[in-house]
Amino acid sequence: MADTQPIVRLDRVNKHFGQLHVLKDIVLEIQPGEVVVVIGASGSGKSTLIRCINGLEEFQAGHIEVDGNELLPNGKSGRALQRIRTEVGMVFQQFNLFPHLSVLDNVTLAPMKVRGWSRADATETAYRLLERVSIADQADKYPSQLSGGQQQRVALARALAMEPRLMLFDEPTSALDPEMIGEVLDAMRELAREGMTMVIVTHEMGFAREVADRVVFIDRGEIVEQAAPDTLFDSPRHERTQSFLSRVL
Ligand code: ADP
Ligand code: MG
Repeated sequence: MADTQPIVRLDRVNKHFGQLHVLKDIVLEIQPGEVVVVIGASGSGKSTLIRCINGLEEFQAGHIEVDGNELLPNGKSGRALQRIRTEVGMVFQQFNLFPHLSVLDNVTLAPMKVRGWSRADATETAYRLLERVSIADQADKYPSQLSGGQQQRVALARALAMEPRLMLFDEPTSALDPEMIGEVLDAMRELAREGMTMVIVTHEMGFAREVADRVVFIDRGEIVEQAAPDTLFDSPRHERTQSFLSRVL
């Protein structure tokens, strides 16, 4: 099989917050269509890692390439940063919907503003995406009128409206009541099945096992181990991975 080009490539990325060395020589490549789940204890650097991938955090050494756009250390990325932000969708733990906009307007805003779509085109796409996450009937409501699970599905539709090449998820179900976790994971599972490239930080180990092509374990800013989910969960090689898994599984 011909080698495919990775869509994401991190090469010896180092990130400090003052004295704190948060990412240590991170080397990571992600292939188009791959679903990569990142696991690790709180404070290990998972959020920082994925925030670096779409330029929400600066880093001090190494480089990051996303779909041919190169991010450079210390914020010297220039136009690549804007291109990456329009190509990479992100879903956060705290939905981050615009509270003063209806569901429909949340989804149409960026395609109209950033991509220059007409309102008619943006609206048509928005309804298609809202239907896909089973929430089109809520299009005229405001975020505060929706449950957490519904808000997170709107956030997913909003990200997809920009036709991203890559989707990043930072603990998308951690702020949800238990009964709403399933509906969000279902929508993500569907997206994975359709071939979307996804990097997902989650504590939902069952979901990770089922959906991930690869699980990456990060501890104190280092990638300690990465493998196919069954391998990583059933026979972790490193003591640090074993210790983490024994606490969460
Ligand atoms: P995780 O997502 O795995 O819980 P984070 O990436 O959020 O970890 O944080 C990694 C480390 O960086 C933690 O020690 C955290 O306290 C620290 N950190 C995160 N964001 C900042 C910030 N903006 N300023 C200073 N320290 C930060
Ligand atoms: Mg985090």
